[in-house]
Amino acid sequence: MTYTLPDLPYDYGALEPYCEGRVVELHHGKHHAAYVKGLNQTLERLEAARAREEFESLVGLEKTLAFNLSGHVLHSLFWTTLSPQGGGEPDGELSDAIDRCFGSFARFRRQLSSATISVQGSGWGSLAWEPLGRRLIVEQVYDHQNNVSVGSVPLLVIDAWEHAYYLQYQNRRADYVENVWKVLHWPAIQGRFARARELSFRATELPASSTLSERDSPNGMAEMG
Ligand code: MN
Repeated sequence: MTYTLPDLPYDYGALEPYCEGRVVELHHGKHHAAYVKGLNQTLERLEAARAREEFESLVGLEKTLAFNLSGHVLHSLFWTTLSPQGGGEPDGELSDAIDRCFGSFARFRRQLSSATISVQGSGWGSLAWEPLGRRLIVEQVYDHQNNVSVGSVPLLVIDAWEHAYYLQYQNRRADYVENVWKVLHWPAIQGRFARARELSFRATELPASSTLSERDSPNGMAEMG
């Protein structure tokens, strides 16, 4: 049961001019791939530690697990919420929820852009569904796993690590974030929003009609698309 790097649903150059192909290729083929490799290695080390009942290194392994697993989840989501046919604004229930939770799409957009641009060091901006209060929130994620509310479900994430933009935009992170909005694929985000709302206030409880085998695929892409 290992995780695998998912193929992109488009060519490396498909998001140009907003995201250059050489940047996307490095980002997916080297950076995302490294998180998948690190995740599988960490699970192997945890398995070995359990077998030997030697847990001296557990604190480090748990941190490494959270970092790599979160990196894999966020990148898988990032790729599938971008599209050459992206741009525009959401409609329907997601649009209504954004208006209810943020006042307007314009205000939501400014908050998410600001959260992404102002990350100190490496991190992400995220639009997430909070299943306890049943509302949308913007989160500012540090690294891949920090400063995140337990149980929140990311719907739309923008990578603010330098590897996501520096080759193309240098220090102009704000220009990069502005251009990501032009390739955001709202139908994919709206589909994810609809599935996230099936969660009860207990974030780990699945609807009775679902089974783990249907929902869990090793690379996580089934839930992302
Ligand atoms: Mn990245």
